[in-house]
Amino acid sequence: MPVAPVSSVHATANATAASMAAAGHPSALRQLPQSEQIKAAAGQFEAISYDNYGPHFDGMLHHEDGTFHVYCNVQRCGPRHEGRARFTLAHELAHYLIPEHHAALCSGVAPHHPSFCNKANAKLYVEVEADFFASRVLMPEVRFRAVIERTGFGLAAMRRTANELGTSLQSTARRFEDSLTHPCAFVVWRDGKEPWFVVSAALRQYGFIFVKKLPTPVAGSATAVALAEAVKPSPDIRESASVMSQWFTGVFDGSERDLPVKEEAMKTAYGMITWLSVNPSTLTKLRTLDQQLR
Ligand SMILES: [Zn+2]
Repeated sequence: MPVAPVSSVHATANATAASMAAAGHPSALRQLPQSEQIKAAAGQFEAISYDNYGPHFDGMLHHEDGTFHVYCNVQRCGPRHEGRARFTLAHELAHYLIPEHHAALCSGVAPHHPSFCNKANAKLYVEVEADFFASRVLMPEVRFRAVIERTGFGLAAMRRTANELGTSLQSTARRFEDSLTHPCAFVVWRDGKEPWFVVSAALRQYGFIFVKKLPTPVAGSATAVALAEAVKPSPDIRESASVMSQWFTGVFDGSERDLPVKEEAMKTAYGMITWLSVNPSTLTKLRTLDQQLR
């Protein structure tokens, strides 16, 4: 499928969020899983089906003869009111509303379109665009900022934010990538796969950009204990003290950039998450990336 410029995806997402709000959906697509409202908002999908579709996709947008059908896999996304199902539906809405994606579907370039919520790496750019759209529609900038100002810092705060916005833990965590107010990063660990990470803009601007490919959790740390536990997902959050050099590339042990980090870990239904928070006041002593490059 052709790629749309990010600015146009952003504009489409913002316009959709705004029209939803104007139509009486103050939390953007809070009501998204109700097909009548989807139809009222975008007036297009022929049908939305929620069912078990095996392991093959989270969501799929199917086009045939000018009509669109969305399939949402409850086996992978949970019931329709859950964050992951809402994200999947918003993602499929993106493929419908972003003109370049829509045209590709209509022309038959991509008549069937299976999507996955949590394949963070190696995604096609159109998938990244649709994820970006879904994220901004479900968590519009002004509302997201207002909620995180109130909920505060750390993993429990992120979980409260997700509860308040009705979004999945993973999509909410990823939304912090844009945050200039929350210096944080997270790592997602899944059995048999390389961990993946996201770093917030508040940290990236100080040059903390890449989490080490295979960070080794320190014995007894929150991450090590949570990874070792052969228990079911739990709302318990473990906490321990860490330092930046343990997690980030290019940070040397004992250097001025080797700042203290609050490390928190929690086992979720889809793996284990480590949340790293840095006290903003310790960052201000460092030079920003701009200053370093000058
Ligand atoms: Zn997709």
